[in-house]
Amino acid sequence: MARILLHTCCGPCTFYPLDRLRAAGWDVRGFFFNPNIHPYQEFQRRLEALQAVSEQESLPLIVRSDYPLERFLRSVAFREGDRCLTCYTLRLEAAARCAAKSRFDAFTTTLLYSKRQKHALARRIAESASKKYGVPFYYEDFREGWKAGQARAEKSGIYRQLYCGCIYSEKDRFFGSPSRRRTARKASDRFPVGGDTE
Ligand code: SF4
Repeated sequence: MARILLHTCCGPCTFYPLDRLRAAGWDVRGFFFNPNIHPYQEFQRRLEALQAVSEQESLPLIVRSDYPLERFLRSVAFREGDRCLTCYTLRLEAAARCAAKSRFDAFTTTLLYSKRQKHALARRIAESASKKYGVPFYYEDFREGWKAGQARAEKSGIYRQLYCGCIYSEKDRFFGSPSRRRTARKASDRFPVGGDTE
């Protein structure tokens, strides 16, 4: 059976892509590397949620628990408006590198599931990481299963985050991203902004 490495941003976004990949005949392994998440306690909480999904769904995981936050912040400083490009590149290149090194047949990402993400940008960066590291990228528009995946995550009782991940998106929860000019939100609003979508 062909093996695929699934870059996982968090537990809730893993259910639907995992089901789809397994239905398509892939042997799936999860890969966690998300040093964009701030603060560190949130990073740990999301990792624990993913580990709970891993147990529930018998999904083997490769976890990179290193946390090069400084590298992430330095690379987005003064380019905060384009931060998602840097963020996707950091994470998806790590996934492609790991997939190539461990001889997976392909890699993909749960970022393609979330309606909150910049779908076209994530796809483009994954395609260039695929060329750079010589490992195929599997593309599917997992957003089609958004509602089903959300319902599944809610039913499972795992932690569901309130913002995309970085410190800037945490601020956007309350003040809105500059380009969208959103009004302030309540602290209880769930994951309203993950960078502007495209
Ligand atoms: S909004 Fe989300 S995707 Fe964009 S930089 Fe922040 S954590 Fe990364």
